[in-house]
Amino acid sequence: MKIENLSEKNVLKLVVVTLFSIMLLTVAVVLSFNLDTLKQNFFDKQVETLTLIPDNEENVLRVVFTGVSSPLTPHIAQQSVVISINNKNYVFDAGSRSTANFISQGTLDAAFIEAVFITHTHSDHIGSLGELVLASWGRGRTSSLPVYGAGKEIQNVVDGFNLAYLPDREHRTVHHGEEFFKPENGLLIAKIFQMPNPERLVFEDSNIKVFAFVVPHGPIHGAVGYRIIADDRSVVISGDTDVMDNYDFVNGVDVLIHETIIEEISTKVSESAYRLGNERIGEIFKDINDYHANLIDYDNRPGLLSKLEEIDLGILALIHIIPDKDNIIVKRALKRFKSKSKHNVVIADINMEVQLPLNSKEIIVK
Ligand SMILES: [Zn+2]
Ligand SMILES: [Zn+2]
Repeated sequence: MKIENLSEKNVLKLVVVTLFSIMLLTVAVVLSFNLDTLKQNFFDKQVETLTLIPDNEENVLRVVFTGVSSPLTPHIAQQSVVISINNKNYVFDAGSRSTANFISQGTLDAAFIEAVFITHTHSDHIGSLGELVLASWGRGRTSSLPVYGAGKEIQNVVDGFNLAYLPDREHRTVHHGEEFFKPENGLLIAKIFQMPNPERLVFEDSNIKVFAFVVPHGPIHGAVGYRIIADDRSVVISGDTDVMDNYDFVNGVDVLIHETIIEEISTKVSESAYRLGNERIGEIFKDINDYHANLIDYDNRPGLLSKLEEIDLGILALIHIIPDKDNIIVKRALKRFKSKSKHNVVIADINMEVQLPLNSKEIIVK
């Protein structure tokens, strides 16, 4: 067909089709030139998601919450607090799913976990030990991972995890080679200390000193809390505990991380459960009041509110909150506590971070 025989409408169609074809051709040419770059960017992105960006700021004591819940809030990672300074990491408790938060947090290098400190052997404080040792081994840790804790139960926990992960260690060693995955670096090693004294030094290196102190969490044997000191800054982790008789020993710390139960609410939950015929839940919510620290004074017994009234703290971080901290009634109780407390109170949340620069009074909450 000759062009002069085309109608005006058909000419327009021809122009549109031609322009569209040129556009498609241009896109195809551009894409073919850039395909390699696009592919490379994709692969680089995959590596970036697996590569951490270390926080290279020196002499800042970092407190990172990688697990904040108890067994009664199974949808949130259970208790674990990472103390980090000069790219060395010290893990206090390793509750279930906390290792995933450690890794995804993105600035903590699992290859440089120096030690783990266990407050006690309840499952919500040890459940992620296997994942932690595996993640740090895979990322290049160069020794077995020491696990500190009070009493012989720590040896049982360490032996149990080492046995459970034995096949995994063997598979990886065979697959990647013994030079790359040194078998001994995939092991936990128990560092047991006894607690004849109320407080004792259990660990010291060039960055930090760690003291353990006895806490009332009976009938659990060997329950302790930890005081971490780096130069002029300090953090205290209560572990699981009933309200302690005396809090003078935490006077002046920068961060007190304290567990808590809102006994008034857990008692109501227990009563509801009995009324609804769920005796197991009723019993559990009644029993747990015995060995956790009630927040607000209740039933003629002092809670953290009055016990900490005369104590000087930089920040009070509440953790391991029972019942679930996302419940509206619990939120209101926490708000009431905050308004009544003279302290700067924060509610520990996943991957929340508190930074304490050394030789300074500054406290930065991120
Ligand atoms: Zn617990
Ligand atoms: Zn406990």
